[in-house]
Amino acid sequence: MVTELNINPIKKWLPQINNPLLIAGPCSLESEEQVISTAKLLAADPRIFVFRGGVWKPRTRPGSFEGVGSIGLNWLRMVKEETGLRVGTEVANAQHTEEALKAGIDVLWVGARSTASPFVVQEIADVLKGTDTVVMVKNPVNPDVQLWIGALERINQAGIKNLVAIHRGFTPFSDTLYRNYPNWKTVIELKRLLPKLPIICDPSHIAGKRELLYTISQKAFDMGMDGLMIESHLDPSCALSDKEQQLKPADLKLLLDRLVIRHENANNPGFDNQLDLLRSRIDALDKELLEVLSSRLEIVKEIGKYKKENNVTALQINRWTELMDNRVKMGTDMNLNETFTKILFQLIHEDSVRMQTEIMD
Ligand code: PEP
Ligand code: MN
Repeated sequence: MVTELNINPIKKWLPQINNPLLIAGPCSLESEEQVISTAKLLAADPRIFVFRGGVWKPRTRPGSFEGVGSIGLNWLRMVKEETGLRVGTEVANAQHTEEALKAGIDVLWVGARSTASPFVVQEIADVLKGTDTVVMVKNPVNPDVQLWIGALERINQAGIKNLVAIHRGFTPFSDTLYRNYPNWKTVIELKRLLPKLPIICDPSHIAGKRELLYTISQKAFDMGMDGLMIESHLDPSCALSDKEQQLKPADLKLLLDRLVIRHENANNPGFDNQLDLLRSRIDALDKELLEVLSSRLEIVKEIGKYKKENNVTALQINRWTELMDNRVKMGTDMNLNETFTKILFQLIHEDSVRMQTEIMD
């Protein structure tokens, strides 16, 4: 169950924006000097609208740098005054939220670990009541779209309409290329359920390393994301947190220059006609696909009856192994992805066995 949220488009709180929303700044605020110089360099790029910086840092293990604390809020306020950039930081409890609101921080975000905890989100939402702050909600560490929506709903029910979701990837169960693997399926589901909600991508925490930032950022635009939040540090090798994934401001500019920004619709009637034509061919092929599956199912039923009459099991593992090997080979010969063909036939076969056992009952 999802109730459509009452959400403002980004333009409502950032009238000067010309898509996309770009947020940049260090993982952690470390010193006044670092904060002001980084912000000045970033502000020189008119594509960047919001300066980010962690004041209270959630760390996996105690003992590492846990942020400078409340003093960082003063530095953010100085950034705002000196550069005109909006400023944003993470809040993880009621006290952080109170302090950040009092300091006039424009954008607050709920971190991935906090989103996973409804108590924490509610506590933050209660403090936000009656304000018109911009709030961004990172995905929870586990790919649970309902938990993510639940956090957005709690904030929205507190009257916050300036909402944004952030895809920052999910905790991997085994070694992957990514620090937090991107799960576009979950993001697409969030977009389907809450079509008005702006969603941006945080490639830094997905990647965990600089080399992957470009590919993830471009993928985010290809998937129709509304912006990016990227970590940028004057000298990443000396950063007190997330060294490997931060970019120098000059390198961030180079990355932004390379990215192709895509739009949901082209401003070109010829494009729409051509797209409609191609889509009608897809529609016809999908119909054929379903007709073939339906004819297949009729034969599956006949086999089921025949097996029943002869007291033969619905599942015959040798046949299944042979069929799978053969179909995967056929599929790859026809340029289909091997995993895709495997999953497709697993589904088809599972349903055939289900149908045959139903006939036998
Ligand atoms: C961050 O943005 O610095 C951060 C700690 O992110 P996350 O909540 O995604 O881990
Ligand atoms: Mn970080």
